[in-house]
Amino acid sequence: MRAGKTASLILAMIVTAVGAALPPLAAALPWTASLGPSTRFALVAGVLGLVTLALLMPVGASLDRTVDRLRSYLESTGSSDGKPRRFYGPKWGRPLTRAFTSAVDQFRQREQMLTNELRQVEIRCSVSEAEQRQTEAVLHALRDAVLVTNAFGDIVVANEAAGQILDFDPAQAIHRPLEEFVRDKRFCQLVSDTAETANFAERRHIEHEISVTVKEGGKSRIEPRVFDVTIACIEDHKHEVAGVVTILHDLTRVREISQLKSDFVSKASHELRTPLASIRAYVEMLVDGEADDEDARREFYLIMQNETDRLGRLIDNMLNISRIEAGIVQIERENVDFKSLIDRAVNTLEPQAREKKISLLTKLSEVDLTVEGDGDMLHQVVLNLVSNAIKYTPDGGRITISADSDNLTRCIVFSVSDTGLGIPPDAMDRLFEKFYRIENYKRVAKGTGLGLSLCKHIVETLHHGQIGVESELGLGSRFWVLIPMRYAGSQAAA
Ligand code: ADP
Repeated sequence: MRAGKTASLILAMIVTAVGAALPPLAAALPWTASLGPSTRFALVAGVLGLVTLALLMPVGASLDRTVDRLRSYLESTGSSDGKPRRFYGPKWGRPLTRAFTSAVDQFRQREQMLTNELRQVEIRCSVSEAEQRQTEAVLHALRDAVLVTNAFGDIVVANEAAGQILDFDPAQAIHRPLEEFVRDKRFCQLVSDTAETANFAERRHIEHEISVTVKEGGKSRIEPRVFDVTIACIEDHKHEVAGVVTILHDLTRVREISQLKSDFVSKASHELRTPLASIRAYVEMLVDGEADDEDARREFYLIMQNETDRLGRLIDNMLNISRIEAGIVQIERENVDFKSLIDRAVNTLEPQAREKKISLLTKLSEVDLTVEGDGDMLHQVVLNLVSNAIKYTPDGGRITISADSDNLTRCIVFSVSDTGLGIPPDAMDRLFEKFYRIENYKRVAKGTGLGLSLCKHIVETLHHGQIGVESELGLGSRFWVLIPMRYAGSQAAA
């Protein structure tokens, strides 16, 4: 049974009980005087109960219906179709529904507003997350170390380079004191001094040497490196010190390059000065009339011609090397037959070898020895190596030139072996350096010290091959070259 009807029934029962219990009520009914007290009680209770029930039952049923309508109205108002509905119930329910509808409308507007705000916050969140990821990616990709500390001297930002240079794990160091992670006391002092100055306008540049742990092939070693430290104070909205930002830029390589450049210039000028001085001396002697007969003059002219050739070779080699190093050399790619390169070189150098009674042997494989490369440059490599072998092999020696293909590496293997002076172990690592010449051999043969360096550039930089040497002092040397049969990489020099 529904709540309205139940309430009517309960009310009727209460009225029945109360009515029956009231003796004056029964006494007021004269026609009940002949009845006994219990019959009168039952009669009065019954009549009262029935009358009350008859009166209250419709009210209860109507109440139930109104509650049903109200419920269905409220349920439909709460649904999201958004249209206001008409309330088909008694009039007294209408103010209630109106109040409820406006409350629901307000809630709905508020909900809409909050949903929009939430969406905006979500968008802003994902944009700032993406920006943060981008900034972190940029920071970590930087080769310069970036380190930011807050006003309390705790690390707040540190990229990978900072971790590598200052030897700490950036992930563990965040929000921890700088001194706890960075062992370089001078660097820590620099950061705290900058924070104390509270000078926001100045960005200081300091040169600072740091002992960096370099990890290579599973081993680590300490290497002193010079850094350009840029350090500045960060200001907060209250114009107070928010922290310090430090950027470390490695100057070691720049220094090395400028050292190499000045070494090159001083060596080049030294090498150029030697033949020039010689030419000048002979010119002066000729001018002073010191060569009085034709034979002496001819000898002077020949010496001057040799020195001029040497000067020309020096300048050509220097130019070639620096052009390759600068990456402006284009190689003329063509099919180069190594056999004919070797034949050409042997033909050119045969007279020199014969003069020293050196036998020139060639051991060329039957297979195709064609590579994709620059014929003129590769010819220069063959010529340099064979000419060196002749220069540094005593009279009566033997030189073997061999070439074969290596199917595993898809390379041509070319080598020049001699029974010459050999190379001292301490010179092995420096042999391909510019201007390097073994001191004791300077008297043995004239040279520029640039031939092997040029060979290395032609083979490795321009043809992506390899060049090396094996030697035993006093017994001879074997220079070997690997050139890929197919040219890999771009045309321009790396
Ligand atoms: P150079 O013009 O002096 O020959 P290179 O760069 O060709 O210059 O060679 C550098 C140095 O390497 C030479 O000066 C010489 O001391 C040494 N060298 C080169 N080839 C040989 C070789 N086959 N045997 C011994 N020493 C060699």
